[in-house]
Amino acid sequence: MNSLLRTCSTVLLILALLLTHACAFSAPTALAETTPPQPDNGVVLLFGIGIHIEPLGATTSQIVNGGVQNQFKRLGPDYHNLKLFQRHVQDIRTIAGIVEQHSGKLTVQAQTPFTQVAIQSGETILADFEKSGHEIALHFHEDAHLGRNSEQLPASTWAAVMAEEISLIKQAGAAEVRYWSGGNLYPHLLEAASQAGLEVMSDWKNRETQTTDKSLIGINPWRPAASPDGADVTGFAQHDPDGKIIFLPEGDYSRTDFPSMRRAKNTGGDEGYFEFLKASLYHSIESAQPDKVNVFHFTIHPGEFRGNSAQPYSILDRFLAEVVDPLVQNGSVEWATFSQMADAYEAWEKANPGIDPRGNNTTQANNYPPAAIDPASLGKVERDITYGVADGIALKMDIYYPKEASGAVPAVLYVHGGGWITGNKTAGAGVLEIPELVSRGYLVAAVNYRLAPRYKFPAQIEDVKCAVRFLRANAATYGIDPERIGAWGGSAGGHLVALLGVTDATAGLEGDGGYADQSSRVQAVVDMFGPSDLTTAFQGANPRLLERVFGTTDRYSETVKLASPVTWVSSDDPPFLILHGEKDRLVPLSQSEILHDRLIAASVPATLTVVKNAGHGFAPAGGPIDPSRLAITKMVADFFDQHLK
Ligand SMILES: [Zn+2]
Ligand SMILES: [Zn+2]
Repeated sequence: MNSLLRTCSTVLLILALLLTHACAFSAPTALAETTPPQPDNGVVLLFGIGIHIEPLGATTSQIVNGGVQNQFKRLGPDYHNLKLFQRHVQDIRTIAGIVEQHSGKLTVQAQTPFTQVAIQSGETILADFEKSGHEIALHFHEDAHLGRNSEQLPASTWAAVMAEEISLIKQAGAAEVRYWSGGNLYPHLLEAASQAGLEVMSDWKNRETQTTDKSLIGINPWRPAASPDGADVTGFAQHDPDGKIIFLPEGDYSRTDFPSMRRAKNTGGDEGYFEFLKASLYHSIESAQPDKVNVFHFTIHPGEFRGNSAQPYSILDRFLAEVVDPLVQNGSVEWATFSQMADAYEAWEKANPGIDPRGNNTTQANNYPPAAIDPASLGKVERDITYGVADGIALKMDIYYPKEASGAVPAVLYVHGGGWITGNKTAGAGVLEIPELVSRGYLVAAVNYRLAPRYKFPAQIEDVKCAVRFLRANAATYGIDPERIGAWGGSAGGHLVALLGVTDATAGLEGDGGYADQSSRVQAVVDMFGPSDLTTAFQGANPRLLERVFGTTDRYSETVKLASPVTWVSSDDPPFLILHGEKDRLVPLSQSEILHDRLIAASVPATLTVVKNAGHGFAPAGGPIDPSRLAITKMVADFFDQHLK
């Protein structure tokens, strides 16, 4: 892939179409017959179409380096060429006319020099569109506006150039700009966009491969916890209810075909692409949920669709008539601009505080890796047992009984992650270990705990400790040996089990959830990529998160120090197995190295396994992870076998 073309693979195609004479004619054929989904109780999919206006003939912003010519200036097609400009204005007006005939709405994403030429030539297309109910937004090519090495520029520079672009869109006639596309891979993108006043995005593609990360495929919007860091979308794919930006995934596209079909014009042509869109739209309606905001959108370009040179947009007209109109009529699809999708999501958020917007939707990354446990792999399961009461809240655990037991069995506690603010006992990286552990004769107790920001630390560790005391107090009831209790967890759950491992009652973290006469100590700990020293700076413990969880932005405060497992390490601590992805950007590997060093220095048996090619949650980053996920499960079970059997 040409590295100059960083945001849209389609730029290349448009250039090709403009530079060569495209005159292939394909006779209009009806889209293949399939039965559209029937309306389901209250299920609505918000549907919209975006248009990108590319930076043809752009010069780098004066803010960056004096507006020198860049590769976009040299490539050829240039909106300063009024003929091209007017042709694309006409193309966009034609597309809008078709969409309006189907009562639809566009989200037109503009940038310089299109906006500059519109201002200079008095072209009112953006103002006209906004008046007609379409949305005007920003499409942002980092190379075109920020030059080479844009990743190295500070967020404030990005924000200034984005604001400059927004200002030109407004001068060209739009009153409001909330949505943007582009800027993929910049590690401070969300911060920069938010500083520039933007609120909504979608369409994240890896600019190197021009593919969408599969963890971003889906229909339920969320608020990314962090910008993508390079190709690593781990933080981006995580939901943070206080995130500043709303992300709209594109729809429930086939996870195998999606990347290739995005470039279907190079392969199957317009017909193939719209067939793919139809199948994806139907599939998205089928996976839509009545109690969620569900979205589907795709993006087109002026200058596209020249398969039929006489009527280039007839394919779009047919798609809307044959596929979309019937769905609008039966109530399962509603047209929306991208900001209207975001408004619907915000309203849903207000009505559903504290609920993960993607819920049990396993197509999305909050469940990475796809963590559905096959019920056949489990024995008896008892859900929602109350293990304690704190702040008037009944604390719940699920108990997974061993598949076979003779006599008292060892127990292991599973503690989920989610930044201490989200997640639940049936989710997180560690649930994959449950079937193996129950088949090896363990009783597994998976716990919920009170979440921040409503409940500040130490509520979380108090609940986890209460769960251990509950198991001890009820050992006879559940058939477990109170002297053989272990714990494992990932991310924030890794932090909590590490803290559980290194502290006893003298740490003052027991809380008053119940069973005060019991010990909360455990005999073995598996910490997966958990923070261990919160006094060091890293993305997963940024000041805003510290504030929400620990009630302070001061990482050197006593609270944060006492919350750090490394503070408490002593020679009487139980054996630790620590697993951490080498490419984890949210919680860096150094967090596990620090803990491992402290444990070894205190003569505590400890093993650190660095998982190659793994990001946070062991998500593959740059190749298959090593050890494999299955091998990790075996290591965890072997470790507990060694210390609890
Ligand atoms: Zn673009
Ligand atoms: Zn584009």
